[in-house]
Amino acid sequence: MDALYLAKRKSASQTLSDICDRRPALASVLTVFMPLYAAREELRSSLQGSVSALPELQHPNAEFLSQGVPLLANASFDWIDAPFKEAAKAILPQLAGLEALAADIEAYAKGLESGKLVPSTLVAAYLSSDAKSLVKITKPFVASASVGAFLTQQILGPVLHAARNASGETDTAAWRQGYCPVCGSFPSIGCLGRPDPDQSEFAKGGGGKKFLHCSLCGNDWHFRRGACPGCNNEEPGAIEYLRAPDTPWERIEMCRKCNTYVPNIDLRETTENPDLDAESLGMLHLDLKAAEEGLKPLAPAFWNTFD
Ligand SMILES: [Zn+2]
Ligand SMILES: [Zn+2]
Repeated sequence: MDALYLAKRKSASQTLSDICDRRPALASVLTVFMPLYAAREELRSSLQGSVSALPELQHPNAEFLSQGVPLLANASFDWIDAPFKEAAKAILPQLAGLEALAADIEAYAKGLESGKLVPSTLVAAYLSSDAKSLVKITKPFVASASVGAFLTQQILGPVLHAARNASGETDTAAWRQGYCPVCGSFPSIGCLGRPDPDQSEFAKGGGGKKFLHCSLCGNDWHFRRGACPGCNNEEPGAIEYLRAPDTPWERIEMCRKCNTYVPNIDLRETTENPDLDAESLGMLHLDLKAAEEGLKPLAPAFWNTFD
């Protein structure tokens, strides 16, 4: 499916270094996070040995999909302890740049090492949006629930990404929500695809099929172009745009009803095939513009949450 859209993407490091060339003003920020993105990418392949295909993704529950229940929301995570710990060893040191979190990171890592912080229960609470349990589980180790959730998210992302790869393609065509059909997280970025010669419906059209890219597991899913992924507002003109004049393929798609936005890249306007996780960080200049407009990112990240 969507062969051209999925055409070989650049690595995250390459994408970030291209953005630094194109927009030197962002280089000092992007350079700090390059090792983190490189570590994530390495984990996707190094974890292949310790994750196996997930039945929830191989045989997706049609009822869940039509009812808007993410496939992993009620899954068992018995398998995740070893890969989660492996990912934590690679990711946590890369977050050392966030000095305010140094003590939390150390305590969280010790919790994992000692076995007091158990990944399978932690992840189950995180993915079922069970805030109460998540607070209870992380409280002995971190200063606040949001820090506990942030560290869990940073480590869990590459693990879920590897598990998705191991599971092969999951048919989520019945899914209509603005959050991820696999893990339930909001998208960090969207994109408009190029025309796909293999699909007759696009033979004459100009492409432009819209996909959202999950901020956590990296899954891409189709979404209605004129609708807001935050509140499902589908009125005509629901989505408004903010652009940077020098890179017309990059824009912010915002909704005034729920006051959220998602960055978007129009692949028809560029020959680039960026890594979408890196690209969403590289659109920081538009995040700043959106913040000036009083908008909130649908998927908050450490670089787009301005107080
Ligand atoms: Zn996801
Ligand atoms: Zn909205």
